[in-house]
Amino acid sequence: MTSAVSAAEEHASVRLAGATRSELARALAELGVAEGERSMRVSQLWHWIYHRGAREFSAMRNIAKPLLAKLAERHELARPEVVTEQVSADGTRKWLLRMPPAHAHDKGAEIECVYIPESDRGTLCVSSQVGCTLNCTFCHTGTMPLVRNLTTAEIVGQVLIARDRLGDFPGGTPPPDGLVPSGEGMRAVSNIVFMGMGEPLYNFGAVRDAIAILTDGEGLSLSKRRITVSTSGVVPEMERLGAECGTMLAVSLHATNNALRDKLVPLNRKYPIERVLQACRGYPGASNARRITFEYVMLKGVNDTPAEAKALVRLLKGVPAKINLIPFNPWPGSPYECSDWETIERFSEIVFNAGYASPVRTPRGRDILAACGQLKSETEKLRARARIMLEESLVVGQD
Ligand code: SAH
Ligand code: SF4
Repeated sequence: MTSAVSAAEEHASVRLAGATRSELARALAELGVAEGERSMRVSQLWHWIYHRGAREFSAMRNIAKPLLAKLAERHELARPEVVTEQVSADGTRKWLLRMPPAHAHDKGAEIECVYIPESDRGTLCVSSQVGCTLNCTFCHTGTMPLVRNLTTAEIVGQVLIARDRLGDFPGGTPPPDGLVPSGEGMRAVSNIVFMGMGEPLYNFGAVRDAIAILTDGEGLSLSKRRITVSTSGVVPEMERLGAECGTMLAVSLHATNNALRDKLVPLNRKYPIERVLQACRGYPGASNARRITFEYVMLKGVNDTPAEAKALVRLLKGVPAKINLIPFNPWPGSPYECSDWETIERFSEIVFNAGYASPVRTPRGRDILAACGQLKSETEKLRARARIMLEESLVVGQD
């Protein structure tokens, strides 16, 4: 997607929080830093931006003052704007973020980002696009027109904001009003899931570059095993994801036969179940220790019979898999209902008895979502999406 690349490039000339190493090098070159000095300066900037979480150039003590002054004149370390922050009684946090215009004709965009703390991990659910071009019939995001791809900086920006707010950078203090996992060497944001708005594999370049920044050992240093990218099954890019990013993979399956999946996930007409599973079998690094997550949304009377649970087990034979059963989140006008709890339990039991982990969890953070309808209409859809993100994040990124 060239638009994302050009938007990222345009942004990099101003905002450096979220920049790649090559964008930093380019910014330094434009400021007249000699070639021989540039890689050392890039490393210094990298350390301050991503390891220390610096928000002011003046904090960068080991960089000469005249260069800092030039940097401050042309660039900034600002993150996307936090429009609202909501904190649930259970510590779940939701931020509504405003992205500045990425180019002259862009009005900017709002997205949500959700943080779910647990005793042994903290999972951040990030968005990769504003809206989505794939119209899965049970998904609210699918009913929104795609506004645009997020840039690399906007994806990384979601993580920087979460770490700022959770006191996760060195010297930071955890918020007094929230639960943050604690323990020796424990980080507030330990896991990332690309399960917010959008299809990450339709914004491959920006997602790949964001993952490279997030996993860089001299910066944010997140483990690839703790990053999960969820796809509706963009087969050609699944292999690329494995080869170029090496993260964990989650696949939104939702049906065990093509006739039904064609309806639920229209992309299935292009990449049917067999091809998706073939791509899973070939996914680099997939093993019993590094299982692929299969997401399965429970739709009443649509895909939730015991026979379908058995079909699911048969389908995944030979694939190192875990299955996440997601209670359907209804939205205004949605054509489905969530399966009954007993139906979900029966389904889960069949899957579990076949040897697959099949967690179904009660959603958290419901209290902060209760106020959804009170906000302006264009963010309402995003709020409905955030509810999905919350529930989603509860059952993935478990490694
Ligand atoms: N586009 C990617 C990632 C974002 S969607 C994908 O489809 O995988 C993240 C997950 O939320 C997907 O498994 C998606 O199927 C699921 N989801 C979407 N709408 C939902 C809803 N209304 N209720 C429950 N899960 C939903
Ligand atoms: Fe897009 Fe995923 Fe929603 Fe499908 S489920 S419309 S791919 S965000």
